[in-house]
Amino acid sequence: MIAVRLNLRDLAPGERLRAPFDERITLQLDGQTAEAEARGEVEVFQTGQGVVLQGRVEADVPLVCSRCLLSFHETVRVRLDEEFSLRPPELADGELGPQDFISWIGPEQQLDVGEVVRQHMQIAIPMAPVHRADCRGLCSVCGANWNERSCEHQLQLEARQSRRE
Ligand SMILES: [Zn+2]
Ligand SMILES: [Zn+2]
Repeated sequence: MIAVRLNLRDLAPGERLRAPFDERITLQLDGQTAEAEARGEVEVFQTGQGVVLQGRVEADVPLVCSRCLLSFHETVRVRLDEEFSLRPPELADGELGPQDFISWIGPEQQLDVGEVVRQHMQIAIPMAPVHRADCRGLCSVCGANWNERSCEHQLQLEARQSRRE
């Protein structure tokens, strides 16, 4: 496991830095923290005003099925394509330019790739994950797992639905 922090002082204009990404990241899942091993490859290169970080990273994320509460793992893939400014935003004149909407890399001129990956992963996690597309879920009355068995409530529900059709 290597923590990827790219020192951008060493980066010459036009040069590309490529690095494997292999890091454990901490994600927020349903109010709890979960660890996931993230792997991929990242690349940075300079533009006029800053640097661009690109790459592809995937992680095996532990999820809980939103229908039946089963724990499972899903591979979440993210694509990075983000620009960072090497200079702090200028606050002198009130006018905001496009440059002010690009995050500043900070005084250390180091890019914490792990943090960027973590943010992308966090957003890419499905809001209501399902362990398989046809998961039937749990009975809201008696808690029966409809993937394993049916219950009287399910039969009543189905009867009501077929009457409506
Ligand atoms: Zn499920
Ligand atoms: Zn039931």
